[in-house]
Amino acid sequence: MSPGEGSVRPILVTQPDLPPLAELLPSLELLWESRHLTNQGPFHQRLEQALAEHLQVPALSLFCNGTVALLAALRALALDGQAEGGEVLTTPYSFVATAHVLRWVGLTPVFVDIDPETFAIDPARLEAALTPRTRAVLPVHVYGYPCDTVAIDAFARRHGLKVLYDAAHAFGVRTPGPGLLRAGDLSVLSFHATKVFHTFEGGAVIGPDARTKQQLDRIRNFGFVDEVTVDSIGINGKMNELQAAVGLLQLPRLEDHRQRRAAVDAAYRAGLADLAASGAVVLPPVSRADAHNHGYFPLRVTAAFGCGRDDLYQRLREAGIYARRYFHPLISEFPMYSAMPGADPAQLPVATQIAREILCLPMHASLTDDEVERVLREIRRAVA
Ligand SMILES: *Cc1c(COP(=O)(O)O)cnc(C)c1O
Repeated sequence: MSPGEGSVRPILVTQPDLPPLAELLPSLELLWESRHLTNQGPFHQRLEQALAEHLQVPALSLFCNGTVALLAALRALALDGQAEGGEVLTTPYSFVATAHVLRWVGLTPVFVDIDPETFAIDPARLEAALTPRTRAVLPVHVYGYPCDTVAIDAFARRHGLKVLYDAAHAFGVRTPGPGLLRAGDLSVLSFHATKVFHTFEGGAVIGPDARTKQQLDRIRNFGFVDEVTVDSIGINGKMNELQAAVGLLQLPRLEDHRQRRAAVDAAYRAGLADLAASGAVVLPPVSRADAHNHGYFPLRVTAAFGCGRDDLYQRLREAGIYARRYFHPLISEFPMYSAMPGADPAQLPVATQIAREILCLPMHASLTDDEVERVLREIRRAVA
């Protein structure tokens, strides 16, 4: 099996699920007939309800993507347009959108180092990053591992701060009690094609009650209250009917896919156990959640591996295996963030180290056992 050989399909880090096209056709016929293509149409309403039930949350507003959902959530929490440049404590170890949304509304991200066990913002370090300008905390459930929401929410309450969780990776992660998506003030999901539940592009804001949902729904639709009343500087954040129709067809497929990803996770863990025992790799932590979504398999490649993380990444690519270095570089290393508070790598030792070591292995429900074996074989070949 040499690279580029036509018969071997590339092994991508993720691959979006699609329902059989025939299942979508009746929805397309309805759309063509009704011409109700967007603006909270019937598919949109059904998906909003179905997702609120599936996720067991009191209120959910669909959005065109997760980034606009984050922007709308910041507006709903009245965090945008802070006069003296309000600060938000957040993580450098995430997808860049987490910080971009803050800058987009004039807020200053203050980077706080992460916990090596959860990859998420370290609650023990929040206090030291607090200033009189701090307005909120924006943590991320990285790879679907739940943040320490109890500690974060308690910290925020003590200091009168809002908490917005970027839950883009956390679809379907179940924790005991009221549930992960109920923590903080609001949570945001992404339904991008690379996420475990997708609508091509899409997202949602999870809120505590119908009143918050109404506010978010208005923000999503330019601030319209009715035909002649506009009550806020809203945006066009609407999910269209085609996206919603695709989402409805995906819901019944999710649990099977989660189980398949859990099996891939188990195969990777078994196949890498000896390398973990010798310290050449650090396996992902076992999630504290009741049910993990297994959206990612973040492997740490340590100095003991022999060949560097980037060498391994390159060797896998040459073998047609496209692992990804999420999250390298850190957000705080991008030029528009490197001068922000907390961005100095010396203040982010854990995040800096993990960003150097991390490699997310291919993880999706259509991986075959043979493909998982191929990934394991190539990793083994690279060990120096
Ligand atoms: C995917 C993602 C986003 C952005 O979501 P989009 O739907 O792509 O706009 C935000 N934060 C994190 C952590 C993400 O992974």
